[in-house]
Amino acid sequence: MVGNWKMHGRISDNATLLTEVAAGASALQKGVRVGVCVPCPYLAQSQALLSGSVVQWGIQDVSAHSGGAFTGEVAAEMAADFGVTYAIVGHSERRAYHRESPELVASKAQRAIEAGLTPIVCVGETLEERQAGTTEQIIGTQLDAVLAILTEEQAAGIVVAYEPVWAIGTGKTARPGQAQDVHAFLRHKLLEKGASVASVPLLYGGSVKPENAEELFGQKDIDGGLIGGASLKSKDFLAICRAAQTVTH
Ligand code: PEP
Repeated sequence: MVGNWKMHGRISDNATLLTEVAAGASALQKGVRVGVCVPCPYLAQSQALLSGSVVQWGIQDVSAHSGGAFTGEVAAEMAADFGVTYAIVGHSERRAYHRESPELVASKAQRAIEAGLTPIVCVGETLEERQAGTTEQIIGTQLDAVLAILTEEQAAGIVVAYEPVWAIGTGKTARPGQAQDVHAFLRHKLLEKGASVASVPLLYGGSVKPENAEELFGQKDIDGGLIGGASLKSKDFLAICRAAQTVTH
């Protein structure tokens, strides 16, 4: 279960949220892994407050370069200096607002792996693409670009998040069956890369709330969630985490 804080947080408020999440997560079953992806300036604070807890922390994007004259960019190695575990790459907001191509996202995933981080590769279709019947083509292209440049061993270490663009921050969640269909498709594509790749965690993201979490996580190929808005409230985020532990598949 991974929280994506997006561009939210202030140093004065983060301490409460991080401390509450760490305390609540310590009571979860061991099988439920919890992480929070925070804005870069708060990586040091996350490291200070979460070290020694069961909660991992992560970054929301990394550069496709490992260093050099790239003003404003943050290299995966720099995030690694702060004990980061996860790096979200290819979030739909980056693909849309920063015109990130599938190939650029793939390079970012590769840089993250080289730095010892676990990339959370986001894929998803817009409403227009879904209505045009091109969902599999779109997310297939997005995932293929990543799988094409990774070895089987590297690919087995990634996390994939299916986030339909029309469900992000809109309050509209994919129906559990709709999400499961896409996850089954992604699982099949991962299997084509290799047997060990088929078991990478597949997260669902898009308006997950305490009320809909259990039904979504109950789907066969949904292994967890990437949680945006609801990860900013410890009560909601922890309720979603608890929903995951009631599910066995
Ligand atoms: C996200 O931004 O990754 C996300 C899933 O957002 P939300 O849960 O707010 O829809």
